[in-house]
Amino acid sequence: MSADFYDFSEQLARLKQQGLYRGRRVVDGPQGVLLRVDGRPVVNFCGNDYLGLANHPEVASAFKRAVDRYGVGSGSAHLICGHGSAHHALEQELAAFTGRERALLFSTGYMANLGVISALVGRGDAVFEDRLNHASLLDGGLLSRGQFKRFRHRDITDLAEKFGDRANKVLIVSDGVFSMDGDLADLPALAALAKRQRAGLFIDDAHGFGVLGKNGGGIVEHFGLTPCDVPILMGTLGKAFGTFGAFVAGSEELIEMLIQKARSYVFTTALPPAVAEATRVGLRLLQTESWRREKLAELVARFRAGAQQQGLRLMDSFTAIQPIPMGDSRRALAVSQALLHRGFWVSAIRPPTVPAGTARLRVTFSAEHDLQQVDGLLDALIGVMA
Ligand SMILES: *Cc1c(COP(=O)(O)O)cnc(C)c1O
Repeated sequence: MSADFYDFSEQLARLKQQGLYRGRRVVDGPQGVLLRVDGRPVVNFCGNDYLGLANHPEVASAFKRAVDRYGVGSGSAHLICGHGSAHHALEQELAAFTGRERALLFSTGYMANLGVISALVGRGDAVFEDRLNHASLLDGGLLSRGQFKRFRHRDITDLAEKFGDRANKVLIVSDGVFSMDGDLADLPALAALAKRQRAGLFIDDAHGFGVLGKNGGGIVEHFGLTPCDVPILMGTLGKAFGTFGAFVAGSEELIEMLIQKARSYVFTTALPPAVAEATRVGLRLLQTESWRREKLAELVARFRAGAQQQGLRLMDSFTAIQPIPMGDSRRALAVSQALLHRGFWVSAIRPPTVPAGTARLRVTFSAEHDLQQVDGLLDALIGVMA
């Protein structure tokens, strides 16, 4: 007789005991810097709404107008009858924004990453990924039938050594801004190596778009690179764009290939068209309101200077993601809970999101924060960690 399938109690108890148990808190009201959590007001330092567009009045009213015009559901997949004029217009604008021939909308970033890697990498091919890549990229690599190897974080030498074995085609995959560390891929070196090896290069810039580059063009603009340096570029719409969904931008042929082969594109319902219309406004604000990026940089600088003054150790990041190393998961959880008690919401990031023994607090900033809130967070951090 096999084990009782429904006996989960031991696993759940073990997670609790290791400080790895995950739970939700209920937020009431719109997303933003001030949230009501379990009925209490707190300052939010853990969202990904970097530019403060998730509840921007123009984004919200574009959404409402689009519902009046298009209704709510998209009704079908893009390849059946769900691809509307709103989706199409957004794709064209995202292509122009990224300086590429085409862009393709996906329903989520997780699905975009699974779809791209498994569509482009097959049996006999190989996929090499930074070991700190987002889970969706790692899962995409595992799902592809290619050989799957991880290289040491940002280590181009280690990556170059992986090319020893014979593989048909090779795809190199990396986060642009690493989501739990806030540091950047060495994109110029990755681009040069990929060209030298005739490998593909796929960059997920979920946390770079809107934050990096003078016009919010992300890591590619930050390094002054061209579409030919980074031929496959992905971004999510649920972070700086303020809405929901994701896109992949690239050449005409690349996008046609994805339309044929990316299973998470083909076999799923299109985003509601109103999400696309709201995103068109988010995209415009992201490009034109550069004060939001400047404000974000100012907040990050204030936080880093204050932390240094107080002897608080941070990680090597200048982006809106500012992790504080904790090591032990239970400690990270306890500090996060103590901060919440003082009115600051900072999430404890624990394995398997990050490698074992590297639990951390992940502080994130939004253009809607003010300097007093940053100072308040620093005071609370010093208080709870003393
Ligand atoms: C958030 C995130 C994703 C997933 O995007 P969703 O649209 O939330 O599914 C993918 N990659 C990275 C690096 C992310 O941070």
